[in-house]
Amino acid sequence: MELHSRTDAYIGRYAARAAGMVPSEIRALFAVADRPEVVSLAGGMPYVSALPLDRIGEMIGELVARNGAQVLQYASAQGDPVLREQICEVMELEGIRANPDDVVVTVGAQQALDLVTKIFVDPGDVVLAEAPSYVGALGTFAAYQAEVVHVPLDDGGLIPAALRETLERLRRDGRRVKFLYTVPTFQNPAGVTLTAPRRAQILEICAEYDVLVLEDNPYGLLGFDGEPMRALRAYDSERVIYLGSFSKTIASGLRVGWALAPHSVRAKLVLAAESAVLCHANLSQLAVREYLATQPWREQIKDFRVMYRERRDAMLDALETLMPKGCTWTRPSGGFFVWLTVPEGLDTKAMAPRAIAERVAYVPGTGFYSNGDGRRHMRLSYCYPEPHRIREGVRRLAGVVEEEIRL
Ligand code: PMP
Repeated sequence: MELHSRTDAYIGRYAARAAGMVPSEIRALFAVADRPEVVSLAGGMPYVSALPLDRIGEMIGELVARNGAQVLQYASAQGDPVLREQICEVMELEGIRANPDDVVVTVGAQQALDLVTKIFVDPGDVVLAEAPSYVGALGTFAAYQAEVVHVPLDDGGLIPAALRETLERLRRDGRRVKFLYTVPTFQNPAGVTLTAPRRAQILEICAEYDVLVLEDNPYGLLGFDGEPMRALRAYDSERVIYLGSFSKTIASGLRVGWALAPHSVRAKLVLAAESAVLCHANLSQLAVREYLATQPWREQIKDFRVMYRERRDAMLDALETLMPKGCTWTRPSGGFFVWLTVPEGLDTKAMAPRAIAERVAYVPGTGFYSNGDGRRHMRLSYCYPEPHRIREGVRRLAGVVEEEIRL
């Protein structure tokens, strides 16, 4: 048989779960968005060039020279014990009191998502997720053949009444909900934040229907005004499994994230991590440990906040001045993303190639729903391009939208 044909010659051999593994719209866009003439408002890449790169380079070099026999060795599947203590200190900033023994270090929050789904979800189980929701989580849920049921959000985050209604309907239908997946703070992709009163309500509703909560919080420390909010996990340590990450606060390339889970869940996660990767990369873990121990990381995060706030402002100002009437957008108070809604009748997916032709990239809203919704929406990221490029990108985008309206 010709194994190099354009259609996949292995198609009859894959496990059923491989059918849910399809490329995300974001990945497909990255190739074109990377061209230098294109202003990419598509990718959610943190601006790592703002880090003291020389200093980090020296730090890692010293780490290997001083302690290479440990740094370059296998390590425990749960993660470095000192790093887990430091992670607990970081989580305290959002009101979480945790025992380092309940933390598992993972290959980014993404692996934590994978492990949690692996230990809880059988094919056909229901997982609730915001509408819209993080594309990487939807990919994981699809890979484990979960059925995603979306619950709408608004400017105040997930809507409690809609959650209750959905849970009631699923209960009537005899469906078992494995967990509610939520990004409560500076949501990806919508840029909205769950208000404090709603945090309590959502947890009450989940308690009433006995549903676990998977709180994914990579952006919580990147707020532009005031103190960080209390995480959902700060309200409830038994119902909430919390996912954190250093991708946005230090560097995404180190791939260090974590899960904080009730004790017995933590034990399962460690076993699942062991069979997935044996142990996390020790060099990365120890680099983060050293960075937290020796570098002014709190000040660095403050600098990131100032930088991202400036970019957020550049995007909101440009949208305000340039976007045609009928478009609306969210006004994030932290994180990386603005969620834009175009007038009725426009289709952001169909429009994307025209935007690329005009040298601007965004992610069409459909990538953030598992049910085909989202055609009137797009995600715009302000994290990576510098402010003048953001303005230029929005100017080009506004031209494309205006043209579409006129057609
Ligand atoms: N969750 C959310 C909401 C994200 O936006 C991201 C990264 N874009 C992740 C999880 C994964 O992050 P990482 O694996 O780099 O920690």
